[in-house]
Parts: sequence; structure tokens; C-alpha cells
Amino acid sequence: MLIEKLPKTKILINKKRLMKHFAELSQIGLNHTTGGIDRQLGSIGDKNARIWLKRIWKNEMHLNIYIDPIANLWGSYSRHLENKPIVFGSHHDSVADGGKYDGAMGVIIAMEVIQTIKENHIIMRHPLEIVSFTGEEPNSYLVSTLGSKVLCGRLNKDDIFKLSDKNTGQLLSKTIDLLGGNSQKIDSARLDKKLMTAFLEFHIEQGRCLFNQQQSVAAVTCITGIYREIITVIGEANHAGTTHLENRKDALCAAAQLCLDIENIMNECSHLAITVGKLKVKPGAASVIPGRVILTIDMRTVYPAEKEKALVLLQKIVTKISQVRGVRIERKINLDQLEMPMDSNVINAMADAFVKNEQPVIKMVSMAGHDAANMARLTKAGMLFAQSVDGYSHCPREYTAPKDIVIAAQVYLDTLLILDKELE
Ligand SMILES: [Zn+2]
Repeated sequence: MLIEKLPKTKILINKKRLMKHFAELSQIGLNHTTGGIDRQLGSIGDKNARIWLKRIWKNEMHLNIYIDPIANLWGSYSRHLENKPIVFGSHHDSVADGGKYDGAMGVIIAMEVIQTIKENHIIMRHPLEIVSFTGEEPNSYLVSTLGSKVLCGRLNKDDIFKLSDKNTGQLLSKTIDLLGGNSQKIDSARLDKKLMTAFLEFHIEQGRCLFNQQQSVAAVTCITGIYREIITVIGEANHAGTTHLENRKDALCAAAQLCLDIENIMNECSHLAITVGKLKVKPGAASVIPGRVILTIDMRTVYPAEKEKALVLLQKIVTKISQVRGVRIERKINLDQLEMPMDSNVINAMADAFVKNEQPVIKMVSMAGHDAANMARLTKAGMLFAQSVDGYSHCPREYTAPKDIVIAAQVYLDTLLILDKELE
């Protein structure tokens, strides 16, 4: 029974401290023109956020701080216990001109939960480890969820050494070293499957589901699979003035038809998101009929059957447009990352914590990628979402009401206490 799972008196997080820490972190990398956050991987904002986190973790929380070779920031509490740690946290980096809540709030809530456990002298069966991951967001090194990918072995030293900043040319390995990591030892950052008891991440929803329902929190059941293709439409470049309609093989017009038909796939597959996000037109001159268009497709779903259905539809569309417009269309798979279910123990613990906090038990999938998807390869992983007002994210308008943050922090604490009791 639930009552036996949790301490008799309700342990409350400290709202004032939580919001104070969040306000402080929100000043780091603040873009004073837009009100957004600039804490991209390797930026001054990233570095300063790390300095701030280390200071609070050391001086206020008295954690043992450790920076692993890929520069993930770790803080451990009661390390001496024999059981394997429960790990929790998120990331402090942001996209360019991003929001204050994405990632950061997951770190701040994790901090508050440790502080609450400490000052209430709660005896835990498991050591607790907080983590703030390196480079979760898409960045100019063209790699996201960098820190957790290295931990679970999806990226190794050789991969890292091939990457450089597409704007400045700086090697990613150098950036990692400047952030306090050790690029030569990146392979030793990889974690064994048996090293953790569980992983828990809080994140804002970044969508409208909870906002539309006017609810505060939800448990994530599965993190979306992401499938990407690069499609090349090959027509014929020719004179814009002298080429009659019947002689044209306009690659851009064919690509435009392709974009609209791809969008229409979502009418057939309602549990799938598909987007053409990038388009390159060649030769790209006002007086030349486009001869070649390169475009990207990003497809996301948690249902493999939906993905298969969409791929069949996509092939039909491609065949039809090729025939009707006399162009050649080449497809190349660029990414095929499978959906990642969250652990049922963690989801159930979260559901109990919802009840304890008088919240309806809402479960949903995440259509954004997260570090938790990588951590799920290593341990029992789970995610807690809180409402994003109007669904805005990755922009200065990103906002979650303090009321929902407090509910989330309380649910997070109770989830952790339940998992500490239940898990080996
Ligand atoms: Zn994030």
C-alpha cells in the first residue's frame, strides 16, 4: 500500500530555495535583448553554469563533485552505501536563444530533492548521484545528448575526435577538455549496465498536452523513435526563360509536391510526426530552373507499425512524383533511432507519487529526444514532465508556472523515496 511506501509525515521541498536557485541559474547566459538563454555547448554560458553548479553543489550541498571524461558534472551524496546509486538530473546547456526551463529545471529540482532529503535526515538505502549532462541540445558540433551517448557507448573516442564546430572549426575534443573533461580518456567514461539502480529525469513537456488538459505533471511512458532521411530530387537545370513548360524537369517544383504529400502522411498516421526541415536548391540562381534539391525528413513515433506504414506511403509518393514529373528521387537513411520505453517500476512509483500529491495519474509519450533515452540502455529509467504554458520551448517564451514546478518537485521527491524503498 502507498501509505507504507512513504514516510508518515509529509516531507516538503523548499519552494523558496528552489525558485532562488532557478533565478540564479537563469541569469547565466541570459540574452538581455530577447530574454532567452545562450548556453550552447562550450559557450561562456555553459562554462559559467558549470562554475555556478559546482559552487552550490560543493558549498551549499556538500556533495562530492566529479567531472567525467566527457565533462558530465556529477555530485554524489552518501557514496559509502553498498547499494548501487539512484542517479538523477538533466542538462544545463541550451539551444541558441533557448528557454530558461529546458534541462535547467531538471537539474534545479534534482538539487532541491537532495537538499530536502539531507536536511530531513532521511535515511536512504541507496546513494544518490546528481548529474548535469554535457551537450544535450543540438549544437554546432552536430551532436545532441552527447554526454549520455558516451555513457551508454553510442559514441566513443574515435567518433568524438572526428567532430568539430561547423562555424569555427574547433575540435569537439578540445571543447571537452576546456570544459574540464579529458578527451583522451573518453572511452573510460562509458558505464557498465550494472552500476546504477535507476535513473530519473525531470523535464518540461515542451508540448501542449498538459497545458490543454490544464494539468501539472505526467509520467513519460516512452521516448520517441527518430528516423531521418536525406532525399535528393534530381531534375534538369535549364534556362528560366526559354524552356517551355512541357520540357521542364524542375526539381524544386517536384520537391514542393513532395513536401506537401509528406505532410499529408500525418493524416494517415495520426501517432506520427513528419517534417521536412531543410531544403537546399541547386544551382540556386534566379535565372535557372532548379536541377537538384536536397531535403531532410525527420519522422518520429513511439509505434513501430506507424513508422512502417509511413515508409510505405513515402515510397508510393516518391514513385508517383518521379513518374509524373520526370525526375529521379534518391533516398538515404541518415538516422534510425528506435523508440525507448521507460521502466515500469519507475512509471508505477511516479503514479503512486501522483496519488500521494492529489494529482491525476497522467501518462504520455515524449516526442522529443532526451538523455533518459540513452540512460534507459543502462538502467531502469523514467521521466517526469511538467506543463509548458502554451507548449512553447526552445525559445524565450518557454514558461512553466511556479505552482507546477513545486508539484513536480514534490512528486519527484516522493518517486525517489518510493524507488529507494522498492528497488534492490
Ligand atoms: Zn532538454
